[in-house]
Amino acid sequence: MRAKKSLGQNFLQDEGIINNIVKIIHPQAGEKIIEIGPGQGAITQYLQASGADLQLIELDTDLIPLLQQQFGQHDNVQIHHLDALKLKLNNGPFKVVGNLPYNISSPLLISMLYQHTEIKQMVFMLQKEVVQRICAQPGQKLFGRLSVMLQHQFTCSSHLDIPPTAFIPQPKVDSQIVQLIPRENATEVSLPVLESLVKQAFAMRRKTIRNNLKKIISDEQLQSCGIDPGQRPETITVSQYEQLAKMLANHAD
Ligand code: SAM
Repeated sequence: MRAKKSLGQNFLQDEGIINNIVKIIHPQAGEKIIEIGPGQGAITQYLQASGADLQLIELDTDLIPLLQQQFGQHDNVQIHHLDALKLKLNNGPFKVVGNLPYNISSPLLISMLYQHTEIKQMVFMLQKEVVQRICAQPGQKLFGRLSVMLQHQFTCSSHLDIPPTAFIPQPKVDSQIVQLIPRENATEVSLPVLESLVKQAFAMRRKTIRNNLKKIISDEQLQSCGIDPGQRPETITVSQYEQLAKMLANHAD
């Protein structure tokens, strides 16, 4: 079958790497796992064999009959022809995993973030740069919206370096695995408020936080969170963004 670029199809073909990914996922008999974009089943076959209760979410109409043929006879597998961006999780908690189509990775991560109460772990293969963004620390160049939003709710870690040669067809960039585990002590913050705050904070990275947030937050409010208004947005910690979001939410009440 010809791979569809529009659906981000790069199929894994390196058994060593597939095994390493499965080790990180660590599937257990009976646990609920959702695989986004199973494709031709490279990872799926191991998830199925573990005895996990597996739900497959695949958008490509042409792949559905192949998945039915390969996995339809197994009681522990359910196949859904569905856009993962429309996925509504319930009756979790789930492990959500997949070698994600790169074009939907950021919106999918944000959609999963809003459904974090249904999630116990996520393991995704992504473009290396996106994984580096997710895991970046304040002060690093890649620290930005994705880092703040995801680190607010999850402990994020990067694993493995995967070269283009692990796939058919080969992508142009390197890949990595990111593991996200819900933080037990996550600060309670309204996610829409935090999301809108970081969108404005990072609107112009070269500007100071004072300039980016001047319409919504005063210098005094920044200082009350230990922030110098002359700081750049990428130097402010996740916990300081959480404090600012709380302040904004309280003012909106
Ligand atoms: N898991 C397979 C592997 O590792 O070889 C395939 C990975 S490929 C990078 C991404 C898969 O996601 C493809 O099968 C593609 O059809 C599917 N896909 C693309 N967009 C999707 C969406 N919005 N919802 C669900 N699946 C999608």
